[in-house]
Amino acid sequence: MTALVDLQGRNTIMIVEDEESYQDALNVGLSVEGFVVVGATNIAEARALLLSSKPDLVLLDVMLPDGSGIDYCRELHDTTHIPVIMVTARTSEVDVVLGLEIGAADYVTKPYRLRELVARIRAVLRRPITTEDDEVITFGDLRIDFSRRTVTRKSQEVELSRKEFDLLALFATRLGQVVTREVCLDTLWWGLELSDTRTLDTHVKRLRQKIEDDPANPRHLITIRGVGFRLDA
Ligand code: CA
Repeated sequence: MTALVDLQGRNTIMIVEDEESYQDALNVGLSVEGFVVVGATNIAEARALLLSSKPDLVLLDVMLPDGSGIDYCRELHDTTHIPVIMVTARTSEVDVVLGLEIGAADYVTKPYRLRELVARIRAVLRRPITTEDDEVITFGDLRIDFSRRTVTRKSQEVELSRKEFDLLALFATRLGQVVTREVCLDTLWWGLELSDTRTLDTHVKRLRQKIEDDPANPRHLITIRGVGFRLDA
């Protein structure tokens, strides 16, 4: 596969995968979905291809012949702003991907459906690029300034309690990702019984009233039933 400058403004996906069946299926499937696809079968190839193809997103297998996809993900996170979707083959790998701060934007587990993968790729590509150094996140009509601990909406300052700000900040630093109720409670209400989560729901409700146009039908702060919440840009 050769890397070409795409004149139609299509997004380039770099697949790092040593299993030929996956490479072939992804190459065809993602091309049909309108992506430019470039493929590497190991980390050394990926490093070279990264420079020539300048991908918008990397789909990265965990187990590669010349090293760990987890290490390469960390390397990409440290040296580029290119989002990475990790591909895991075992549930045990999911724990590693999620447990370590390797900077992956998302993950999928083999075997996955192409439709699911494409949905995740599109969702990741829609996310604004943020780095840990960013002190301000802007999306929709919201602007969150972490260092000043202020939130503005349509250029008006939104008055938030300390806990409300902390909760919004927790979601905002994981924009587009699900934050579980457990993580919310552990981070903000350390020691609170998990069964007593009304406090969390009250805070989410108040946040919605302050940041959503229609708090009953939230566009940004979404409830993931039985799991937690997700802040969407
Ligand atoms: Ca593999």
